[in-house]
Amino acid sequence: MLNRKIGIDLGTCNSLVFLPQKGVVLQEPSVVAVFLEENRILAVGNEAKEMIGRTPDAIRVYRPLKDGVIADYRITQAMLKHFIGSTSSRLNVFKPELMISVPAGITSTEKRAVVEAALGAGAKQAFVAKEPILAAIGAGIPINSSSGHMIVDIGGGTAEVAVISLGGIVTSSSVRVAGDKLDKAISNYIKDKYNLAIGDQTAEEIKIRIGTAVPEKEKRYLEIRGRDLISGLPKNIKVSSQETCEAIQGPLGDIIQVVKNVLRETPPELSADIMDKGMIVSGGGALLRNIDKLISKRTGVPCFVAEDSLLCVAKGTGIVLESLDVYKKSIMSKK
Ligand code: ADP
Ligand code: MG
Repeated sequence: MLNRKIGIDLGTCNSLVFLPQKGVVLQEPSVVAVFLEENRILAVGNEAKEMIGRTPDAIRVYRPLKDGVIADYRITQAMLKHFIGSTSSRLNVFKPELMISVPAGITSTEKRAVVEAALGAGAKQAFVAKEPILAAIGAGIPINSSSGHMIVDIGGGTAEVAVISLGGIVTSSSVRVAGDKLDKAISNYIKDKYNLAIGDQTAEEIKIRIGTAVPEKEKRYLEIRGRDLISGLPKNIKVSSQETCEAIQGPLGDIIQVVKNVLRETPPELSADIMDKGMIVSGGGALLRNIDKLISKRTGVPCFVAEDSLLCVAKGTGIVLESLDVYKKSIMSKK
């Protein structure tokens, strides 16, 4: 294989690696552990995530893309190196071409930093494209058509909303409210109502197992363990899906507000297209039960969850890599 191509979805929560012809070959948390004294990178991905909350002072665990921006060039480079390394055989001497997703709101300096990091990590060539565009392509939307399409990508750190037409973004906006804030809202709710402290992982588990964006007739329950804030001792309680629904309405409202803002700024012809076809939700947040129902109820626009919503951006990177020519308008930066 002379021409190695690798697509990378550099997400705030999870990073995915896509190889043309193979599909998604790797899905790991965007986490890096650093040994502070020597300023040395200890672990990346799953291995680093396991260290969260368990490290001595000398080790620090970073989520370098926490709010959708690249906080640290060196750490990003280490992550990219890890992803390239774990998907190439040692016999492969050819440097790969990389396509990396970046948030739509990224500055040109940040964009350049990603390209430099990719080259530094061993890429022959590096391209970057905006996340909403890649998500749309991965969701099967014909982005090069002249008709308007709306994509709402709800990840861990950010929700990005964009209207796409003729291969480019016409209007877009993003908000630093997404999966992580839903988890936080759940843990705050449980703290206020039950005087119980729960960890981030537990809050996320509640969201994934019983969370719902709109109340459901049939309630579901989950027994969870936390620390009683008064006695300081461990305690179990049972949480209902109805309670999760109440807990997350605040941050969900913030996301819907962004969708409304983008709709308001969309030229009328394109809004009519979107009204006809509906908007598509992608990202891990699209898996929250009934998120489509809530968005369409509040905006009056039909809403659908993309197939394999967690994989849309990664798939998009692969599709673009395979047909760079077709998508050249959508590629922002290359080297
Ligand atoms: P990013 O692109 O920012 O890395 P992802 O698209 O991978 O984010 O989505 C991660 C978010 O999706 C996390 O907040 C996670 O809790 C959430 N998530 C994953 N599965 C589900 C689910 N079944 N229900 C609700 N949220 C989910
Ligand atoms: Mg993402």
